[in-house]
Amino acid sequence: MAGEPQADCLFCKIVAGGIPATVVRRTERTLAFRDIKPQAPTHVLVVPHAHYPNAAELAAAEPQVAAELLTEAAAVAADEGIEAYRLIFNTGAGAGQTVFHAHVHVLGGRPLREGMV
Ligand code: AMP
Ligand code: ZN
Repeated sequence: MAGEPQADCLFCKIVAGGIPATVVRRTERTLAFRDIKPQAPTHVLVVPHAHYPNAAELAAAEPQVAAELLTEAAAVAADEGIEAYRLIFNTGAGAGQTVFHAHVHVLGGRPLREGMV
């Protein structure tokens, strides 16, 4: 069923506590944890507990949870004292998506280049 945990999914395992992560925020529907290979002083991933392969599929099925990824991303930035931050949703292997469980990257804590790539 859509949204159900997938046995072979890294982020489902992190949500379930089966793989350790540095969790910075948790709600009933989302989890925020530090990226294991940070690209900026703050690099946090916000994921839904429910498994969807990408953010668009999450938004189509559970729009309120998709919105909560954004409000939680803002809360992460506020917790870290960051005024400016970048949110990235990689969608598809060709765009650099490596974990096929919806997530948003929250990047900040250093000046970020103008542009998107
Ligand atoms: P993406 O490339 O958009 O699919 O993002 C996946 C992200 O997950 C990458 O930035 C990885 O560094 C990160 N990542 C992979 N394994 C872990 C892990 N065990 N804990 C935290 N972050 C991870
Ligand atoms: Zn998953």
